[in-house]
Order: sequence, then structure tokens, then C-alpha cells
Amino acid sequence: MNFHTESGVQLLHIEASLGHLQMRLVKESKLRRYQQKRSKTMQVKLFKISQQYQVGELTTSELLSTCKHQNGPALRRLAVLNLGNNCLEELPESLATLHALEKLHLFGNQIKTIDAKIIGDLRNLTFLNLNNNQIKTIPSAINRLVNLQYLSLDGNQLTSLPAEMCALSKLTELHAAGNQLSALPLEIGFLVKLSRLHVQKNKIKELPEGLGKLIHLEIIDAAANEIRIFPTEIHKLPLKELYCEENPLLDALPVHSIQEEEILTLKEITARYVMKQLKDRRKMVKYGDKVFYEENPAWSYMRRAIRHYPNIRDMLAQASKCALCGASFLNTWLECVRFVDGHRDLKLSNSPGRVPIRALLCSYKCFNTPGHEFYGIAFP
Ligand SMILES: [Zn+2]
Repeated sequence: MNFHTESGVQLLHIEASLGHLQMRLVKESKLRRYQQKRSKTMQVKLFKISQQYQVGELTTSELLSTCKHQNGPALRRLAVLNLGNNCLEELPESLATLHALEKLHLFGNQIKTIDAKIIGDLRNLTFLNLNNNQIKTIPSAINRLVNLQYLSLDGNQLTSLPAEMCALSKLTELHAAGNQLSALPLEIGFLVKLSRLHVQKNKIKELPEGLGKLIHLEIIDAAANEIRIFPTEIHKLPLKELYCEENPLLDALPVHSIQEEEILTLKEITARYVMKQLKDRRKMVKYGDKVFYEENPAWSYMRRAIRHYPNIRDMLAQASKCALCGASFLNTWLECVRFVDGHRDLKLSNSPGRVPIRALLCSYKCFNTPGHEFYGIAFP
């Protein structure tokens, strides 16, 4: 049981400083003696409660509520609570009353479920450590911890993380190593402040493309997963360290393949045409030997027309760009890979060796252009 008696003493001092004006007018030495006496009494009480808890006379819930009554308002201002390495099987209900809590350690317990009501009430939490428990799911109410900066879920039994978690816009560190995760939420790109992502020792097959939006991401530890290839825009991140050992990463091997004839759907052809017109504001016109640029009438027409079709706009927002020619496409592309050297090309401080990065090409026409660095992917 790691109940910090020192923090009780600190809180007492805080409370004393908020005391009535009359009290402040008392001589300083007298006040100090008074504070020391109160602190001493408080320490004795807390030790007694702690011993009762250790011999099993008090449950954790009783422990917290007893402590709460020892110093009235002080515990309600409790900012740090360490309940690590105990035998908790669930979150104590009295946690929900500790509204000022900023750091909460619950590692090394036997917690199986997280009560959404209790966790959702801890709005001031910036740090939450739930490592080494038996948690199978994280409730979507986690999105109410709007101040959370550090979340650690290592060594649990999680098979997925809720998409709602990606609403934690202040989160800078996410640790979820040693779970059973097969994927990360597609919405991960909304964790705009994320700088460290530790998801090693899971069963992740693919990191979401949204990772490429995390412009503060400096460390990814994705070792010991089932990853074959990394997202297309990973090379644009300010990464300093990337760990990807013990993954079945793609390798450059010569295999025989046949290029199937490309037949695009009418929807794909139309979408590509619309996106091309929306991009080309000016078009080139030739008069004899001279070249002029004039406004593309289709550009202004498309821009006006598309305002009336928000669903088409949403659909086109899902489009991607060809890694070679830059043209936009919607649902049909060639999945390719590019191999980069982690140290030389990605400027990482560690050396993960050759990193396969996904690249999407618009057509065989682009793929068959000589002189590029993209390889086709042969699916087994
Ligand atoms: Zn292309």
C-alpha cells in the first residue's frame, strides 16, 4: 500500500494557508507548533488506517472514504494517488469523489473492468497508469478525461482500443504494449499532440494511415507485432526512433507476376476526372508555337457545382494521390512498397534497418514508367 503520508502533510499545510485571517495573526512560531501538532496527529491516524488496510480490516473503498474524512476538504484536493501493486479488482467507487486528482497510479492490481462512471468523473486527470492489470476493454467514457496527457495500459488483455480515445487532444504519450491488440483505431490521427506511441508486443497487422497526421510523433515502438508495411506518410513525421524488429516486414524479392488489365469503374473514372478538373485551375493552350495559360472553365464549373453535393465532397475527401504522378484516385490503386533506410533516409537516431513504406500508384502506366523506386506487392 503506497499511501503517501507526506502528501497528507503537504495538504494540511495548504489547508492551513487558507485558514481564517485571525489565525494568520497568531505568532508565527505558535502557528508552526500548531501545524506540527496537527500534522503529527494526522500521520498517526494515517498509519493506523494503513495498517488496518494491510491486515484486511478495511477494503480499498473503505480505506479511501476513511482517509477522506480524516481531513475534510484536504483529500478532496488530493492531486496524486498511488494505489499501485495492491489487490484491487475494480476501481474503488470513492475515486469518483476525488475531482482534483491529476495523477492516478493503479498499476499491478487485478482490475478486470473499468467503470465508465468512475473514470469519466476524473476530469482533471493528466496521468493514468493502469499497467499490469487484467483489463479487456477501455470504456468509451475515457474521452471525458479531456486533460489526459499520459495513458499507460501496458500488460493488460486489450483486444482493441475505443475510437473515442482519439478525442483526447492533449494526449502526448500512449503506452499499450503487451496486449492482444490486432489494430489501432483508424481515428488515431486526431491525437494531435501525440509524441510517443508504444504498442510493442501485440498482434497488430497494420498501423493506421492516420498516423501520418501526427505531426509531433517522435517515437514509435511497434516491435514484435505482425506488421508487413508502414503507412504511406510515415516518412513525413518528425520521427527520432522507430522500433520494428520481430515483425514479418516485407522484403524485396524477385517474384513472377502478371499485370492484370486495368478496368476502372465508371464511378472511379468520373471521380478521377472531377478531381483533375478541380485541381487544374489553369489550362495550357497552344497557338502555333506559342503556349498560353488560361482559366480552365471546367475548374470554375466544378467548384460551383460541387457545393450543392456535400456527399460527393465527403466522398472525394477520401481520395489519395499517386506517389509518382500526383494524380488523385478514389477506390482503385496499385499497392506498392518503397524501402527506405531508417537511419539514412528517415534520420532516426536508432537503426531499424530497411523500413518498408506503403506507396499507392494510380495505374500501371505510372508503375511501368522506368526509373522509380516502387515495388509491386505480391500477396501470398
Ligand atoms: Zn500516377
